[in-house]
Amino acid sequence: MAKAWLSLGANIGDPPAQLADAIARLGAHPHIAVTRQSSVIRTAPWGKTDQPDFANMAAEVETALSPVDLLHVCLDIERDMGRVRHEVWGPRLIDIDIIAYERIEMQTGRLTLPHPHAHERDFVLSPLGEISPATADWIRALHD
Ligand code: ATP
Ligand code: CA
Ligand code: CA
Repeated sequence: MAKAWLSLGANIGDPPAQLADAIARLGAHPHIAVTRQSSVIRTAPWGKTDQPDFANMAAEVETALSPVDLLHVCLDIERDMGRVRHEVWGPRLIDIDIIAYERIEMQTGRLTLPHPHAHERDFVLSPLGEISPATADWIRALHD
């Protein structure tokens, strides 16, 4: 089993309820166990600022899935929950990003690990620091 850390965000609909729904769906997957959850924080939008505030949280999972298979489960859950992509960094019902998978560093067209913007996003590092300070420190150190 591998450990991975996810960042979840939502800013339309009922954001805290959608975060809880996404966590339940992740945990219902036969090859994923949700082992830790951060608190839910409310944050100002990043990158595209003329949209509602976000609810953000982090989760630690244990999984038998590969990084790419885990990404596809996350994207499938987003789709099943009704996410439609209109514009980059625009409003969303649910976003599930893989922040890190063990200490793997990789860059392909579909998946970059650790997440390429994690080190510059407090709304990612702060919840992550609650559940895995060592992982948050590792991401910061990669960019020192
Ligand atoms: P950002 O990636 O800057 O947080 P976003 O989450 O709004 O922006 P999406 O539209 O949700 O972007 O995702 C676009 C693509 O990013 C996904 O289809 C996926 O292939 C790719 N991607 C690359 N690395 C990751 C990662 N670590 N976690 C999630 N998606 C990733
Ligand atoms: Ca994202
Ligand atoms: Ca995403």
